[in-house]
Amino acid sequence: MRAAVVSSDKDKLVEVKEVSLRPLEPGEALVDIEFCGVCHTDLHVAKGDFGDVPGRVLGHEGVGVVKEIAEGVTSLKVGDRVSVAWFYEGCGQCEYCVTGRETFCPYVKNAGYSVDGAMAEQCIVAADYAVKVPDELDPQQATSITCAGVTTYKAIKVADVHPGEWIVIFGAGGLGNLAVQYAKKVFNAKVIAVDINDDKLQLAKEVGADLIYNAKTTPNVDEAIQKDVGGAHAAVVTAVSKAAFNQAVNSVRKTAKVVNVGLPPEKMDLDIIKSVLDGIEVIGSLVGTRKDLEESFMFGAEGKVIPVVQPRRLDEINDIFQEMEDGTIQGRMVIDMSLK
Ligand SMILES: [Zn+2]
Ligand SMILES: [Zn+2]
Repeated sequence: MRAAVVSSDKDKLVEVKEVSLRPLEPGEALVDIEFCGVCHTDLHVAKGDFGDVPGRVLGHEGVGVVKEIAEGVTSLKVGDRVSVAWFYEGCGQCEYCVTGRETFCPYVKNAGYSVDGAMAEQCIVAADYAVKVPDELDPQQATSITCAGVTTYKAIKVADVHPGEWIVIFGAGGLGNLAVQYAKKVFNAKVIAVDINDDKLQLAKEVGADLIYNAKTTPNVDEAIQKDVGGAHAAVVTAVSKAAFNQAVNSVRKTAKVVNVGLPPEKMDLDIIKSVLDGIEVIGSLVGTRKDLEESFMFGAEGKVIPVVQPRRLDEINDIFQEMEDGTIQGRMVIDMSLK
């Protein structure tokens, strides 16, 4: 089968080539992949930013149909449409797995990084961990919910925002746009979007942001949020910029939660006195559990959340990575395996 494989030659990044899959083991299923979204995390994996993985099949935003199930599989049947997510499998037994925090499992496997992923014609999944995609949900849009959607949905859950309260979303790109939609249409919050790109802010407004701020033209965006709405009740930071994390802490009211999602390789400044006197909590949130993904899909199926996607061919993968580096992508590029 054809697959996008991390090259051992760093200059090539990814090669699209023929590879063969190993036989299924008990508890596994074989999935014919229909679509797979391309994520910044794939670029990190391909470049070796998390450690070199030459030969690995990329892809953790996969959606496809079960073609075959191995011995012992009861959670899936042939014909089911399922997802292949970054949280590919946990051990099922550690303290994190058994207490609803499975994404923090120390033995976690990640699709397209520690195990072969979904940027291929076929993918092997751990049946009990492959979350079903509802029939009412467009499978191409489902790819974005498998990663960006569930990540932001979970982050807003962690932020603990209530209906009618203000939540500020830092970063209005792929993650931030979905965060705005979940915050507005599922959690019924009032939403502020902050970015440095007017096009992304305009898109955020179109999908439900009540207020938008360009952090370039309003450098003291934290002060503006305090002045205009009295501070937000919660913040979710999807931006890959240290400044956004610091502004988030200063944009919220007392006892608010600031949820960190973006991954700039820097330290944020946290004023200890402010954190104590204002009772502010800063919390990291990592993708989402199988249950979170099931819920995220459901809201997509109900039409409350609509990811912006664009179909591409598998052999365009390196071009897509270049567009990502150039910052020219709006919405999500999705590999459509039916395009030759
Ligand atoms: Zn992703
Ligand atoms: Zn575990």
